[in-house]
Amino acid sequence: MGVSWSLGSWLPVLRRLPGEARGQVALTIDDAPNPDTTPALLDLLDRHGAKATFFLSGCRAEPNRAIVADMVARGHAVYAHGWEHVRLDKAGPDRLRADMAACEALLTEFRPTPSPYLVRLPQNGGYRNSLVHRTLAAWMPGCQFAHWGLSTEDHLISTRCASESDVERECAAEVARLEADPRLEGAVVLMHDQPINERPGAAFKPAVTITLMRLLLQALDRRGLVSVPMVPAPGAAWWTRYALV
Ligand SMILES: [Zn+2]
Repeated sequence: MGVSWSLGSWLPVLRRLPGEARGQVALTIDDAPNPDTTPALLDLLDRHGAKATFFLSGCRAEPNRAIVADMVARGHAVYAHGWEHVRLDKAGPDRLRADMAACEALLTEFRPTPSPYLVRLPQNGGYRNSLVHRTLAAWMPGCQFAHWGLSTEDHLISTRCASESDVERECAAEVARLEADPRLEGAVVLMHDQPINERPGAAFKPAVTITLMRLLLQALDRRGLVSVPMVPAPGAAWWTRYALV
């Protein structure tokens, strides 16, 4: 992937939990909430003593405020993922700032704004764009990019499904891959609550979302790992403001 340079404007880009993170992972869930899946996800997480980090789309959170309240009450971290699910890096700095601010304004109804703030943009657009970094730094000083180290690739699973048994098999295959990965301990793991995209297989998105969480939490138990909320990095080397690897 190489190195991207800036004149000192890169925010920290996090892909793992800081420190050794023994026995821990951070499950991060984009595009929530949804009334037909999120309550089931919250119950599964509770059953395993797991805490997740949700990056919420304002357009989905607005009609589902009670679910947002439930997420916070159960100890999960919630951050903004924009309002509509559009490429905010391509929409211009004003739209980027307005969408993030509108979503965060909704979330402050349920918890104080975290500091430092963790940012994840739709489709992770612009994480190597220095204008996006400068715009976010001006909006929320000290914020950090919540990238990930491992992806469940769940945005593609439903495209391979034509039946419920396909869902179980395809989710199990992705979970087996992750369970065998030596980088799983300490990893920030990307997953979705019904990914917002135009790909085929939309009818199976709810089943994929719930099945994948069920199987992944079982795999974490087998590996002796528990999901904890993603936390900001305590500090970054000075050169990371100039060089993004
Ligand atoms: Zn998203």
